[in-house]
Amino acid sequence: MVMQHTVAPVGIVRSCFMEKFAIPRQPQLAPAARGVLELLPPFDQPEAVEGLDQVSHVWLLFLFHQALEEKPRLKVRPPRLGGNKSMGVFATRATHRPNGIGQSVVRLEGVEPGRLLLSGIDLLDGTPVLDIKPYVPYADSVEGAHNHMASAAPVAIPVQWANSALPQAREHALRLGEPLVALIEQCLAQDPRPAYQVPVAERVYGVKFWDVQVRWHYPQTDVICVLEVVLA
Ligand code: SAM
Repeated sequence: MVMQHTVAPVGIVRSCFMEKFAIPRQPQLAPAARGVLELLPPFDQPEAVEGLDQVSHVWLLFLFHQALEEKPRLKVRPPRLGGNKSMGVFATRATHRPNGIGQSVVRLEGVEPGRLLLSGIDLLDGTPVLDIKPYVPYADSVEGAHNHMASAAPVAIPVQWANSALPQAREHALRLGEPLVALIEQCLAQDPRPAYQVPVAERVYGVKFWDVQVRWHYPQTDVICVLEVVLA
């Protein structure tokens, strides 16, 4: 008999990322990406997080709630490989996977009653978190480990600002009390466009971070220029 076991979220992430597009592919790539993990009863009680103040980073196990599928995939096409080469699902960190479980090491900025303050996240707003575990440096950081498919962080591309866009971003950063300029630069430098898409300079891309809409284009291949940052 196949064993079945039900799991339930211990909390929900409130994130700067309102849509999947332009979220970095892994945590830590955008240190300015912040969010709050709101704990659900009974885990919203102080006992559940006692001792967490001794920890700089936590593992989050979460549900890719916007990528859940009925039919399991054996092979996936990771964006990292250009989106046109397929790999065994277990060789990748693709969102479409059995049980839809993701895992990220994120920085723990603070512990408040019923909430954990996080940064360096790669999680969509509303992501259900199934478990939280402290990062254990001596065990979780493996000396000499390799992954020939993803051996280094993606190369960052230059991000420029059109005249009015930077003051707009600074104004919204002040209003939100968030490092919005750094967030935009760190996320767009990852070049969110699909790898197979060669952009024409006229094409404008957009994404929502917090409550603002960020629009940009590619004046040259592999150069981003932020055009505007306005209330969504
Ligand atoms: N670090 C995690 C892991 O390795 O399991 C996630 C890696 S996955 C490649 C990262 C991408 O997942 C992000 O770029 C974003 O587009 C997507 N994502 C984040 N939260 C999600 C959610 N709740 N549902 C569906 N997709 C999500």
